[in-house]
Amino acid sequence: QEEVVIVGAGQAGAQAAQSLRQGGFEGPLRLIGDEPHPPYQRPPLSKKYLAGDIGSEALWLRPPAFFSTNAIDFIPNTRATAIDRSKKRLQLENGDTLSYGKLILATGTNARWLPLPGADKPGVVTLRSISDVDAIRAKLSECSALAIIGAGYIGLEVAAVAKSMGKRVTVIEAQDRPMKRVVSTPVSDFFTKLHQNNGIDLKLNASIETLEGDGHVTGVRLADGETVPAELVLIAVGAIPNDDLAHGAGLDVDNGVLVDGAGQTSDPYIYAVGDCTRFYSTRYERSIRMESVQNAIDQAKAVAQSILGADVDYDPLPWFWSDQYDIKLQIAGLSEGYDDTIVVGEPDDNKFYVAYLKAGQLIAVDSINAPRSHMMARRVIGELWRDDLLPDA
Ligand code: FAD
Repeated sequence: QEEVVIVGAGQAGAQAAQSLRQGGFEGPLRLIGDEPHPPYQRPPLSKKYLAGDIGSEALWLRPPAFFSTNAIDFIPNTRATAIDRSKKRLQLENGDTLSYGKLILATGTNARWLPLPGADKPGVVTLRSISDVDAIRAKLSECSALAIIGAGYIGLEVAAVAKSMGKRVTVIEAQDRPMKRVVSTPVSDFFTKLHQNNGIDLKLNASIETLEGDGHVTGVRLADGETVPAELVLIAVGAIPNDDLAHGAGLDVDNGVLVDGAGQTSDPYIYAVGDCTRFYSTRYERSIRMESVQNAIDQAKAVAQSILGADVDYDPLPWFWSDQYDIKLQIAGLSEGYDDTIVVGEPDDNKFYVAYLKAGQLIAVDSINAPRSHMMARRVIGELWRDDLLPDA
């Protein structure tokens, strides 16, 4: 069997390597990552790891011996810089080149940066990796006030942790409600109240003029004239796919590496998996790019099967979660495009769910401290879309 090389040693890359071996792939297998750590899970970064409840080893996806035991040549601290498709060779930053039979791109995303005036000051950070969080924790321990730009999952999770450390926390959001892109008004309203009750200053409809400070950042000046004091400013406004390696090699790219249901790019010898990919979902009748553990794992399994010769057509029912204080938000399906919602249960009891309907069909459910509803929703939404169960099938 020809060598498989995987670029990106994160959730999806590690899963692809494991699934290839489990599926019987016996050829040479290399996993290249530009971070110093073995493959690790990112969700706890903005939760328990930031809080100091767990150490970095608890983040590792596999024990270090896993790679040698499974004859996976894991190469950390090494960045891939170019692909020569005609020679099927990968160029590494350290000058080495590697030949591949099949190449899997699992390069993930990077935190989106905001080019605000003053954003280049020390004390302005983003959060994506273990080293980002190590730096943030060191700074947090010395500062009393944190400003977070962006009320998405990561921003709100960090807000909750920083508050539990006794910090003054301000969250600055351009939209009129938190997590607007992904949840409905009742869910946003619940989280607005939750954070306000915990002492977070949540500024909605806010626009930022500049980041202030002589040298180190000292605050965020808003368009209404107010300055939010902050010795640490976290920019948490989403992520952008690491698709430049693919783009540089002339592969089809459109805010993500374009892949088909087998995870194949526009080059039949190159596949892509995880956060860096965009694919057409028959289920949602549009192209989607997911940023979730579910997608990283399931798409990597599909690609491994495909490389091993199976006929696969990956079209997942997405699911996701976020932990803030003692609240667990779980999302089944994608709610975008919904035209109706039903709220079941009492938000005031910290336990309810919201069902999203589109043209009368259930497309997604957000569950708040209601894990059984979440599991049920995943089953029901998945089943509803099976063609053989449709009335006219
Ligand atoms: P990644 O895990 O990002 O791995 C990609 C790896 O490739 C990185 O190590 C990167 O450095 C490396 N790389 C990139 N380019 C190169 C190159 N040229 N050469 C070599 N290496 C390269 N998902 C959930 O479902 N639930 C959550 O609660 C949740 N919370 C999250 C909290 C945070 C703070 C973050 C950052 C993410 C969270 N996610 C969550 C998302 C989830 O972690 C990602 O969807 C998942 O990690 C994607 O896996 P991946 O392998 O595609 O990318």
